[in-house]
Amino acid sequence: MTSDSPIGVPGLPWGEAERDDWRSRQVRQRSYRDDIVTRIDALGDRFERIAYGQVRYADDAYTLLALRSRVMHPSLPSLLVTGGVHGYETSGVLGALAFLDQVADAYADRVNLLVAPCISPWAYERIHRWNYDAVDPNRNFRSDGPVEATALMALTRSFAGDYLMHIDLHETTDTDKTQFGPALSARDGKEFVEEEIPDGFYLVADSADPQLAFQQAIIAEVEKVTHIAPPDARGEIIGSPVIARGIIEYPLARLGLCPSITKARFKTTTEVYPDSPRATPDNCTLAQVTAIRAGLDFALAQHG
Ligand SMILES: [Zn+2]
Repeated sequence: MTSDSPIGVPGLPWGEAERDDWRSRQVRQRSYRDDIVTRIDALGDRFERIAYGQVRYADDAYTLLALRSRVMHPSLPSLLVTGGVHGYETSGVLGALAFLDQVADAYADRVNLLVAPCISPWAYERIHRWNYDAVDPNRNFRSDGPVEATALMALTRSFAGDYLMHIDLHETTDTDKTQFGPALSARDGKEFVEEEIPDGFYLVADSADPQLAFQQAIIAEVEKVTHIAPPDARGEIIGSPVIARGIIEYPLARLGLCPSITKARFKTTTEVYPDSPRATPDNCTLAQVTAIRAGLDFALAQHG
């Protein structure tokens, strides 16, 4: 069991004892090495494999891995794809890998690629949102953030002067409501306010520069492979106003979210809904790959 909600005293943020209690309940349920490292290694003959950091927690050690274009052309724009910032959001990890395996060759002479498929491997194995320290990497892409965030930030800085596009691949799941939302409230000593989980795919734009036509181009293509989340009765998706069909916006930098780490003109976060009766794992992966491709086609057309 990985139940988080009963830990701690209601109204009081967790201390070290509560975090230890939470951690002791997290069970390794799958293998980063078997599932992900083997796939990255298999792509190593087509892309350059980069070990960009080490995560060490108690007896566990993970090598953070990315793949990039074998030949880097300074004159070409660059694309950054990130997955597994939240380890439990499996289609983001598999979508990043599937993009490299199935699609990336078609763009080889048009864009430099950097893909970090599984940014939080400890959480991948435990099917959780947080790292070992009960920290959500995706609120902490800051210089004093956890290693999952700072290692990626260092990698992206070393790779390209700037990026044309960054797409960060996520899911919104039923466990956000049943497990992770209550755990977050317990951790921070706050009352849990339940949000409706949207049934379908949506995108999160940067409120500082939403690039709406870019987001809409992605929605138009993803809609061909999966359904788009409708707004709720308040015209919102998970508490944020819908600014266009299937699109909400957050202040990415203020929240320390992953797509704030580059100055890419085109940024987005995908949110696939894997718990729909209409969704399958393959379909969720396809939605992620379709989003990358559609965004890249739009960005390259704008780039000229
Ligand atoms: Zn996520």
